[in-house]
Amino acid sequence: MPDRYAVIGNPISHSKSPQIHAEFALQTCQSLEYSRLLGDLTNFNGDVRQFFANAGRGLNVTVPFKAQAWALADERSPQAELAGAVNTLTQLPNGRLRGDNTDGVGLVRDLSRNHGFELRGAQVLLLGAGGAARGVIQPLLEASVAQLVVANRTAVKAVELAAQFAPIGAVRGCGLEALAGRQFDLIINATSAGLSDAVPAIPAECLTAGGWIYDMLYSDQCTAFQRWGQTHGAARALDGLGMLVEQAAESFWLWRGVRPDTAPIITQLRGTAAAGSRG
Ligand code: NDP
Repeated sequence: MPDRYAVIGNPISHSKSPQIHAEFALQTCQSLEYSRLLGDLTNFNGDVRQFFANAGRGLNVTVPFKAQAWALADERSPQAELAGAVNTLTQLPNGRLRGDNTDGVGLVRDLSRNHGFELRGAQVLLLGAGGAARGVIQPLLEASVAQLVVANRTAVKAVELAAQFAPIGAVRGCGLEALAGRQFDLIINATSAGLSDAVPAIPAECLTAGGWIYDMLYSDQCTAFQRWGQTHGAARALDGLGMLVEQAAESFWLWRGVRPDTAPIITQLRGTAAAGSRG
C-alpha cells in the first residue's frame, strides 16, 4: 500500500496540492497517495489524529488550521516555533507529531532562485499580519534584507508581530498610513484583500523606481495587486504560484528526503491556474 499524505483545510476543494504532489511523486519515482481532507471546523485535532491512526504519514495544513496545527504538534522546527503557524505535519517513527512551516522557504526560493531578486540589502515591505505574513518574516530576515517593515490595516497587529521577531533582525511594524514618504525595493502582499479584488490602501510612492511587487495570491488573470504594481511602475509584478509550489517541494523533501524539480510543475500549473490560492 502506498504511503498516505493529504492536505487538510476548510474549504479545500480549490487546493492544488494533490496535483503538485502527484507530479512530484511521478518525477522522483516515489510511491505515495495524496488526497484532500475537508477539516471539521470544530474537530481539527480529531481529524488529524484519525488520519495518522489510519497509516497517514504527513499532512499539509491550510486555512484556517495553521495555528491549531502549531498547537497540536508535539515538537516544532525553529521556523514554525517562531511563526506560530504550522503548514506541514509529519508523524515521526516514535509516533510524535512534528510541525514545520515551509511557507517562508517557499517565498524566498521563488523570489531569489526562480526570479533572481537580490534580497540581501533590500528594503522590503510586507503587507499583512495574518498567518501568511507570520510564516515568512524569519526567512526574509535570514536572507539578510536591510530592513523589513511589516504594515497592516490593523496597526497594532503589525507592531506586535514585528516586536516578536525584533531579536533576530531589523524589523518593525506599523499601520498602512505610516508608510507615507517611505520607499521600498520590494513590496510583498500577504493580505487577503485580493480575494475580493481589492488592494491594501498604501501610498503610491512606496515603490521605489525599479522596485518589484510580489502578491502571495495567484490567479490565471493578473491579481489586483499585480495590476497595482504595473500601474505604479513595478519592474516585476509577480504572483504567488511559485511560492505555492516551492513550499510544497520543501514539505515533500521533509517527508521523502528527495527534492523535486519545481520548474516544470510551475510551468504546467501556469496553464491551469485559477483565482483564489490559499497556499
Ligand atoms: P489571514 O486571514 O490570516 O490574514 C489576512 C490579512 O489580510 C490580515 O492582516 C488583514 O488585516 C489583511 N487584510 C484583509 N483584507 C484587507 C484589506 N481589504 N486591506 C488591507 N488589509 C487587508 O490570511 P492569511 O495570512 O492566511 O493569507 C493571506 C493571503 O496569502 C491569502 O490571499 C492567501 O491566499 C495567501 N497565501 C498564499 C500562499 C502561497 O503559497 N502562495 C501561502 C499562504 C497564504 P487585518 O488584521 O486588519 O484584518
